[in-house]
Amino acid sequence: MQLTLTSKVRLYPTAEQARQFERVTVEYQRVCNLVSQWEFEKQFKVNQKIFQKELYHQIRAESSLNSLMVQSTYRTVEARYKTVKQQLFQHPYHFQDKNTGKWYRFNRDLGWLRKPIKFGRPQADYVRNLNYSFVKQGTLISINVLGQRIKVQFNDQYTQDWFTHDAKLGTAKLVQSSGHWFLHIPVTMEVADWEKNTNRHIVGIDRGLRQIMTIYDEHGRTKFFNGKHLAYQRHKYAYLRQKLQAAGTKSAKRHLKRLGQRENRWINDVNHCLSKTLVDYYGPNTLFVIENLQDVTFERKRADKSATHDLHSWSFFDLANKLIYKAHEQGAEVLTVSAAYTSQRCPRCGQIRKDSRNHELHQYHCPYCGFTTNDDRIAAMNLYDLGKQYLSGNEQPKFELTNVND
Ligand SMILES: [Zn+2]
Repeated sequence: MQLTLTSKVRLYPTAEQARQFERVTVEYQRVCNLVSQWEFEKQFKVNQKIFQKELYHQIRAESSLNSLMVQSTYRTVEARYKTVKQQLFQHPYHFQDKNTGKWYRFNRDLGWLRKPIKFGRPQADYVRNLNYSFVKQGTLISINVLGQRIKVQFNDQYTQDWFTHDAKLGTAKLVQSSGHWFLHIPVTMEVADWEKNTNRHIVGIDRGLRQIMTIYDEHGRTKFFNGKHLAYQRHKYAYLRQKLQAAGTKSAKRHLKRLGQRENRWINDVNHCLSKTLVDYYGPNTLFVIENLQDVTFERKRADKSATHDLHSWSFFDLANKLIYKAHEQGAEVLTVSAAYTSQRCPRCGQIRKDSRNHELHQYHCPYCGFTTNDDRIAAMNLYDLGKQYLSGNEQPKFELTNVND
């Protein structure tokens, strides 16, 4: 299986290198805008050859970008127009004839643009090995700036994986964000496929607020990942946001934006750690089972009212995505199942009763078989069960209310 993602590698340039980054990205941006204008005037009837013939030498004569980077600007602009073209196509123009009431729909293309696309942010694109590469056993990035090539330190927390996985790295983008320099690198790697018949572990994963995550595995082990610390952090952000919103000043808005970015980074880190911990612990040949978030109503989670407004469902989506990605990287798999009855069904005898669960005492008690346990683990146990059903051949395992024989 092939995996692709864009990795945001933090760079640590010296003060002088940072100035060089600034100069090269500003220049690259300027040239992209020139090329964009040219393409627009040519009504997009261009290709790399025409660019080479008509514009390339002119740019080379007046710009300090090297020849490869000037060629890259054409590809950068081309890629941006391609994206815009798709966006236009996906958003056709609708209008209603006032007389007849009839609706009309036109597909839009680049001809609808009134002015050339503007590159509003300094940036520079780098082709792997030609304009950037990893040197010194992957501990430094060597990269072109105006007039020379420099070696820069970077955060190699994730990059070591690439070399062991023989990853293919695509065209990278150098950008500055919140005062820091990043190289966005598209990474593609070939990973081992997970296979049903060699599976060794089944892990049910339930996500909530009080317990941010509860897991249950084939050894009958339950593990809780407590959400208390996270809830506190969430409240802090919510409080700050409220205060800033109330202030409403320009500087408050700026702070608000920065706060949002910090919060996103924080959730990103938490989810990264949670998913990495799980995948590293169980390793390859593991089937992780999670609920389909589309049909989670959060009904049972609503019991915890104080935390409900804290719930950002996208942070759950983000966790699921990271888990899927990391699992695939390791040769494990994630099964998504319906959430129906997962918190009501008795994991021992299979009876489904709403009143088996006591929210106040956080206790689950089955009146049929007498099974009693902490209610936080019920869903994880049932998800585990669905994983087992899946492995024994049931392609879409789920719980349903059947005729109960009283
Ligand atoms: Zn029971």
